[in-house]
Amino acid sequence: MVIAIDGPGGVGKSTVSHRVAEALGVPHFDTGSTYRVAGLAALESGADLDDPDAVLDAIDSARVDIEDGAVTFDGEDVTETIRTTEIAGAASTVATHPDVRERIVAWQRSWVDEHGGNAVVEGRDIGTVVFPDAPLKIYLTARPEVRAARRSGDREAAGKSTAEIAGELAARDHTDSTRKASPLRPADDAVIIDTSALSIDAVVQQILDLAHGLS
Ligand code: C5P
Repeated sequence: MVIAIDGPGGVGKSTVSHRVAEALGVPHFDTGSTYRVAGLAALESGADLDDPDAVLDAIDSARVDIEDGAVTFDGEDVTETIRTTEIAGAASTVATHPDVRERIVAWQRSWVDEHGGNAVVEGRDIGTVVFPDAPLKIYLTARPEVRAARRSGDREAAGKSTAEIAGELAARDHTDSTRKASPLRPADDAVIIDTSALSIDAVVQQILDLAHGLS
């Protein structure tokens, strides 16, 4: 069974998804890292990020492995390297191309298959596109100022003011929610949780209660 957890950056998605997966004893799959490593592959190969064929070539010739949250690219551990603003921007650009998304979505589905079919999968389009039949879909939101404050602790935010971080989040939200291919939006049957005033523990508990209610 797949539990889909979607939402924009800074809502606490990764921490929550990780904790839910741990509590349920299933793998956690952060699909943002698949787009980030695709962005890295494209940048390293010198591909034009706006050219889907060049991006696909770069992805196809990369050897990528994602295991327990660790990401390797051509044998090198890039788990931390892909957390920069530059890579986030590249990820967001390559993620606008339908052909690129198709390739990456196929890869995400096989990752889950290869891991036994049970997983907590987080992203932007998991409930709408990647696993539309997931029995539990969560969409996390939070007020922009709360998201910016949360992001300020991340590596991507090092040395930046809260206003700068808020500006970057808003720009990425815009790209992600206005793109034609699989825009960021809640699935019709998603449970929407506004995490602005909730602790991580409270959000995790709410999702676990919903998951336990399924069986
Ligand atoms: O979640 P994260 O910040 O790592 O995602 C990086 C970028 O990858 C997002 O801004 C988005 O453009 C893209 N993405 C996506 N679909 C997903 C996960 C991430 O388009 N399922």
